[in-house]
Parts: sequence; C-alpha cells; structure tokens
Amino acid sequence: MPPRILSGKEIADAIKREVAAEVKTLENDYEFRPCLVVVRVGEDAASAVYVGSKVKTSEELRIISEHHHLATETSREKLLSLVENLNNRAEVDGILVQLPLPSHINEREILEKINPEKDVDGFHPVNVGRLAQGQKAFAPCTPAGVIEILKRSDVKIAGEHAVIVGRSNIVGKPMAMLLLQENATIPIRHSRTKNLAEITSQADILVAAIGRAGFIRGEHIKEGATVIDVGINNVSDTELAKKLFDETELEKRLKTIEKRGFTLVGDVNPREAAAKAGNFTPVPGGVGLLTVAMLMRNTLNAAKIRRKI
Ligand code: NAP
Repeated sequence: MPPRILSGKEIADAIKREVAAEVKTLENDYEFRPCLVVVRVGEDAASAVYVGSKVKTSEELRIISEHHHLATETSREKLLSLVENLNNRAEVDGILVQLPLPSHINEREILEKINPEKDVDGFHPVNVGRLAQGQKAFAPCTPAGVIEILKRSDVKIAGEHAVIVGRSNIVGKPMAMLLLQENATIPIRHSRTKNLAEITSQADILVAAIGRAGFIRGEHIKEGATVIDVGINNVSDTELAKKLFDETELEKRLKTIEKRGFTLVGDVNPREAAAKAGNFTPVPGGVGLLTVAMLMRNTLNAAKIRRKI
C-alpha cells in the first residue's frame, strides 16, 4: 500500500489561520498587533528567499513586520548595537537574525545578545536550556513544526521508538528534546554512527535532518514507519533524479531542472520510502512549510507572554 502523505501545506495553513484569528482578537481587545523584526546581513540568496517568505507571511497574518537588510561588511559592533536597540524597543515582540551571517561575525555572540523573551527562533542558550529541562521555552521552528505534523496527523508518539539522523543545534538536538517531551524513546544518529541502517530500520518514527539528497534508503526504513524528511537539497543532476523518483514524478522534476536549474529533494529517497513507509512527508510541501508557520506562532506567543495576556 502506498504511504499516507503528510501534507505540510494543510497543517501550516491551519496554524496560520489560528494565529491570524488570535492576532485579530489581540487587535480588537487589546489594541495592539504583535511585531516581528527580521535582520539579514549580506547577500546569501537562500536567506533572501527565507526572509522574504517570513515578511510576507507576517503581513498576511497582520503581524507587524520590520526588515533590516545590512551590507555584508557590517561590523560586529553595528549588529550588536542594532540587536540591543531591538531588545530595548517595547513594541518589538520577536527578533530573528537570519543565519548564516558573514564569516567575520561570530553567530553565537549575536544570538546570545537577543533578549530570550524575544528569541522567537529559539536559538538563545536560555531557551535551549529551558527546552532541555522540559520547561516552557521558544522551541526552534523546524522541529516544533515536525511535532505539529505528527500530532495533527494523529501519529502516535508516546512510547514509540523515534530515531533522529542529524545532531545540529537547529534541527537534530531540539528535535530530540521535543520528542522526549512527548515521551518517545529517542536515539540520535550522526556521521560517526556505525551501522546506521541497523538502528534506523527499527524506528517507528524516523526523522532525517542530514543535508544529503536521498541519503535515507529503503534499507534504513522499517515497514510501516512514519518518515519525516527535514532535508532541503538542490538537485541538478538528472541521473540522481532518475534514482529518486518514479516515472510520473520524474517527468515533472526533469522539467523543473530544465527550467530552474535544480529541483528540491529531501534527505530521504522518496521512491524507496514509498515502498516501505506508512506515513511520509514530501519535499517540497512537507516540513519546510511548517517552519514559517511556527515562527508566526512563536511571535504571537512572545507578544502574549511579554504583555502577560
Ligand atoms: P547540519 O547542521 O549540516 O547537520 C547535518 C547533520 O547530519 C549533522 O549532525 C551530521 O553529523 C549528520 N550527517 C551528515 N552526514 C551523515 C551521514 N553520512 N550519516 C549520518 N549522519 C550524517 O544540517 P541542518 O542544519 O541540521 O539541516 C539538515 C537538513 O535539513 C538540510 O538539508 C537543511 O537544508 C534542512 N533544513 C530544513 C529546514 C526546513 O525549514 N525544513 C530547516 C533547517 C534545515 P555530524 O554532526 O557528525 O557532522
């Protein structure tokens, strides 16, 4: 039987509708709207797309959005001073500094400067620590989005064996904390793990956050497992595309490669996952769409918490 496709779009749209409704209530009852400030430094093309989508979605939900685009050569001092200014502005609820930053700036130093109460990306050590201790915290948006997909698709988490491949601070580690909070059993795997397939093929829930197109193959997947593909990779190699997609999908993908120069592929081989998984998130159209929706929700929550609503 083909797997159930867990659509990120439907879930992200539902979250955005819920946030928009709450923003409207805040506007009517408390006469303010939440405010998110996004800071981008330099000319990274992918960052420009991500920031554009964050600003556009804020506007759609009537969250006030402010966008600062600084030149690549911006000094560390100037960026720190901007963050301090945003920390001090009472009407600013959320601050997001888009990564990566240019190499002359220490990302950690900038992220640690953000007031944890306004850290809607959930990367400040205070929020990381609170999350690890199971306290209320701003959780990073992508893994928080994965939990929403699982819960809203009625995938059982408590007591399940959930294996995460990847241990980054942005996805793998907070994913582990969030799944642990939901009472899953959570081994983490990474590039030094031996016999990867032996462990992943026992997973009821398999989360792939690796950054390698189609890396997770049939042999890594337990029959009937829920496979969550966090990866977003640009594939321009038509031979690789042929290994990843069945005939109908391949035709579409080859057209996309011809038109755009690449197609978006996850960390899971979709063709092989289709033969084994019970539930599967597509790329594109899966986890990626949840990230912005969860940022909106974190911004709304920051506004309510700061104003004690
Ligand atoms: P990352 O920081 O590069 O981390 C990748 C992780 O994968 C590392 O922990 C690495 O292990 C592990 N890994 C690499 N090769 C491996 C192998 N052969 N076997 C087992 N583990 C291996 O990447 P990331 O930021 O977590 O992102 C992961 C993927 O998710 C990327 O495709 C990225 O584009 C995507 N992503 C998507 C969203 C979204 O909105 N959907 C958000 C963030 C990221 P080591 O630690 O040992 O090096």
